Formats: sequence, C-alpha cells, structure tokens
Amino acid sequence: MTDDTVLTGGCLCGAVRFQITPPTKWCAHCHCSLCRRAHGAAFVTWFGVERSNFELVAGSDDLSWYQSTPAARRGFCARCGSTIFFESERWADEVHIALAHMDGPIDRSPQAHVFYDTHVEWIELGDNLSRRGGPTGTEPLDQL
Ligand SMILES: [Zn+2]
Ligand SMILES: [Zn+2]
Repeated sequence: MTDDTVLTGGCLCGAVRFQITPPTKWCAHCHCSLCRRAHGAAFVTWFGVERSNFELVAGSDDLSWYQSTPAARRGFCARCGSTIFFESERWADEVHIALAHMDGPIDRSPQAHVFYDTHVEWIELGDNLSRRGGPTGTEPLDQL
C-alpha cells in the first residue's frame, strides 16, 4: 500500500461514506466508559487522521453529532445509528474514526489499550499491547 492510496469507509446502512488519505497517526483500543456506552461494546478500536486527510464523501444530511462531553462530540448516522466519528478539543486537528467502519485494512495495527484501568471484567485480552490509563487514559500502567 502506498501512502497516497485512499482508504474508504462507511456506516451500516451506507448513507454516510467517507475516505481518508494515509498516513494515519495512531490506532488504539479505547476502554473508557463513554466509548463503551456509545458503541454498546466492551471497547472501541479507534484510529486518528489529520483533519486535512479526511473527506466526507456522502451522507452529510444523515451525519448527526452527540456532544458527549463539553469538549468532545461523537458523530453517528441518524438513519442506522452507527457510531463512527469522534472529535475533541484535545485533538483539534484530528478526526478519530472507529476502525470497524473501514471497508478494509488501514496502514497500521492497533498499538495500545487506553483507559484500560476502566476496562470491563467480562473479557480477557490475549495480546501483548501496552496497557495505559490514568487521568489522560494514555499513561503506562504498572499492573495489568
Ligand atoms: Zn447509516
Ligand atoms: Zn473512549
């Protein structure tokens, strides 16, 4: 895959479609309670891309935003309910995209588990990726 290959993705019903231009900036599994509730999942795998490398291709009328905290909002398809995007003042220049909405692989694998200190007890992980948590969610945790 070359760096100028456009990667595409979309929601469950297909109304919201988007594309990104690699390179992506990072990829991580997020175990925070907000992600878990928003997606109805044990954790959510996100990747970040520079806003300038992101383009909404279709579905601007169907894409809705939920203000999940004062500084952050989550983008979802109002037709099918797919929770797709995350934007925050903390990472103002980035769009965060749930990896599961991509049509195929991206240019990197998940690198870490973040907010792992708040993970659910009903799943056991089998990988050796770094576990991170604390106030920022991204500080190395001494214990698993
Ligand atoms: Zn949809
Ligand atoms: Zn999260």
